[in-house]
Amino acid sequence: MIVNTFEYAPAPESPGIVDIRPSYGLFINGKFVDGGGTSFKTINPATEEVLADVSEADAADVEKAIKAARTAYDKVWSKLPGSERAKYLFRIARIIQERSRELAVLESIDNGKPIRESRDVDVRLAAAYFFYYAGWADKLEHAGFGTAPLGVAAQVIPWNFPLMMLAWKIAPALACGNTVVLKPAETTPLTALLFAEICQQADLPPGVVNIITGAGATGHALVSHRGVDKVAFTGSTEVGKAIARAVAGSDKRVTLELGGKAANIVFDDAPLDQAVEGIVDGIFFNQGHVCCAGSRLLVQENVYDEVLERLKRRMATLRLGDPLDKNTDVGAINSSEQLHRIQELSAVGDAEGADRWQAPCELPTSGFWFPPTFFTGVTQAHRIAREEIFGPVLSVLTFRTPAEAVELANNTRYGLASSVWTENINLALDIAPKIRAGIVWVNGTNMFDAAAGFGGVRESGFGREGGWEGLMAYVKPVGSTKLLKAVAATPVAAPADGLDRTAKLFIAGKQARPDGGYSRAVTGPRGKLLGQVGLGNRKDIRNAVEAAHAAKGWGKSTGHSRGQILYYIAENLSARASEFAARLQDMTGKPSIAEVDTSIQRLFTYAAWADKYDGAVKSVPLRGVAIAMNEPCGVIGAICPDEAPLLGFISLMAPAIAMGNTCVLVPSDPHPLAATDFYQVLETSDLPAGVVNIVTGTHADLAKPLAGHMDLDSVWYFGTAPLSGLIEREAATNVKRTWVNHGHAWDWMGADGEGKAFLRAATEVKTVWVPYGE
Ligand code: NAP
Ligand code: MG
Repeated sequence: MIVNTFEYAPAPESPGIVDIRPSYGLFINGKFVDGGGTSFKTINPATEEVLADVSEADAADVEKAIKAARTAYDKVWSKLPGSERAKYLFRIARIIQERSRELAVLESIDNGKPIRESRDVDVRLAAAYFFYYAGWADKLEHAGFGTAPLGVAAQVIPWNFPLMMLAWKIAPALACGNTVVLKPAETTPLTALLFAEICQQADLPPGVVNIITGAGATGHALVSHRGVDKVAFTGSTEVGKAIARAVAGSDKRVTLELGGKAANIVFDDAPLDQAVEGIVDGIFFNQGHVCCAGSRLLVQENVYDEVLERLKRRMATLRLGDPLDKNTDVGAINSSEQLHRIQELSAVGDAEGADRWQAPCELPTSGFWFPPTFFTGVTQAHRIAREEIFGPVLSVLTFRTPAEAVELANNTRYGLASSVWTENINLALDIAPKIRAGIVWVNGTNMFDAAAGFGGVRESGFGREGGWEGLMAYVKPVGSTKLLKAVAATPVAAPADGLDRTAKLFIAGKQARPDGGYSRAVTGPRGKLLGQVGLGNRKDIRNAVEAAHAAKGWGKSTGHSRGQILYYIAENLSARASEFAARLQDMTGKPSIAEVDTSIQRLFTYAAWADKYDGAVKSVPLRGVAIAMNEPCGVIGAICPDEAPLLGFISLMAPAIAMGNTCVLVPSDPHPLAATDFYQVLETSDLPAGVVNIVTGTHADLAKPLAGHMDLDSVWYFGTAPLSGLIEREAATNVKRTWVNHGHAWDWMGADGEGKAFLRAATEVKTVWVPYGE
């Protein structure tokens, strides 16, 4: 035979390997049952052929599934030793491997993604996650986040990596002893339902995993149900915010993996062919339906023409078509709805004056398709540069200097992932920490592994999946849950002894009068007037956050020098210990030297931690390293506990600044004077201005402006349940991390008051992937 063309012959994987049933029920308590709602159809997006009729779970079904999960949790799963739970997870991993071809084909049929990807990425990683977390089940104490499971986890996942997202959610939940109710996306339920069969095959006790199908309403009913202890969601930022609001105040633990608009940064010294492969993989992998898709290409100006030329050449060779063909690079868009969104946003790109280039390729006549596309002439103001398109559409921008590249990369409300392409390792490792994202790939894209954390900052959500970090979302320390007793201020009954001092706010290293000009009396337990404090308002919070931002250079100082300053603060407090003890006793009426001593001790503790809370190098299957770096969150706002006026304040301030954050602290509401005395200690301790800002006032008034502030990265609060809820609701506006106590009592003098939980709350784990080799 004479070969006269270089066309690939078709190499289709056989759909016959999967046995799709005409209809599916819900998987509750180990059995498939009919749902009470209407059913819906799932289709093959490459052909629009109906694949199956799927039950929709209504509120009663959600109730049943949660009940089954609760019973399984109480009676079986939480009682099993970790080593026994591990056996089930290993078994599931093994079955996923054994049935991998079937799972891959089914995923490609239901989702539209190329079989090469479902086979080599989705299914492989799904098995890997079960193996990895199986191994943690009996080693939880080594991770250091506690060993008690949370209870029933409600998990809601999107359609872009249906089986893989399921594994990322279910594996760590089960390893830690939780039970699960999971809702897959409406357009891609089939691999989750096949997974339900795998649970049966693995003899998993009934109720440990429940799969309920349906659309957004089912998801909403699930996450907002009172019987749920933990909510884990992956999906859009918009729905993530709605969920955060829906569960605010409920004391459910929440993790949110949301959208992204990742920057793919190409420097002029990058290996350009490799970079072009990375650009293509970054945006056309899974048709660009990827939360960490490199959807913004930032190219250094002097290599722009060359990169674009090579990119066009490469894109022209991409093979779009039958997802089941092993040669296919670009499959079908997942739904007609998503196709419309991509078309609409691309049309906005045209209308806003960007130039569209599309790879020359023939689109199949049925199904949903969009050709690989890029836009040039894009500015930062363009919607296609700001919004997640979630399709095979790239926006190209240029930069001149590394600093400009960082600025462009960070000019987004998201913060999930980024890639940096350069031969200069010094430059790459200088840029990586400056990018506000949970993941940075050096000379690569889309590297994932069960041992490495994945997740975002800012509006890309909070929490990590993968690695030991991923366990944090599913365990808690074994402990009591006593309720907090309220501490109220006493009305003024006796005048001060000739002393009339109004303590001011402390902002940007200076004492400041409250904006509103109001103050209030601070009294002792019998109503003796001790002094006045300023009543801060929204404007004061704004000024304090601004000052904290201006001081962010603190985060770049070394742990060693931060530690030195904390030691110095401790020494200066120690020198005035008796004065502080007297002040506390005046306010609370209780002997207080122990609180002062513990406060000093706590400062020493975090001074020491400043250069010891190390990251890690992850054991990933890569010739290279995946570095988990503990980075400061940024600016932390903290409303301090009422009941420990000095110690509570110190217990929050010290870990925050030790880890490199700057902060805005609101002291104890009834007893604020120890904190306002404390700024004299700060003033004499070489702490740069703006690292610690103190705004006194009523917690009920300050909680809202603090938690709702758009430039704050995290809010902490230790007080009542209602204010905890208000803070969570306000923080949902820009998906801030929160750490609140929902009205539970903490023993600030004891083990609750310090430790790794504080260091973790004060840091974000960034994973930087650095491959080796020529
Ligand atoms: P989506 O619309 O937010 O849906 C995600 C899931 O939530 C689906 O199961 C959906 O149900 C359900 N849902 C919708 N409304 C709900 C509500 N009010 N309460 C509870 N659940 C609700 O997102 P999508 O369009 O499927 O997925 C794409 C998005 O996911 C993108 O923004 C992408 O960046 C993000 N994503 C993030 C990550 C990450 O790790 N950060 C990973 C993958 C994807 P139905 O779809 O069935 O209606
Ligand atoms: Mg489908």
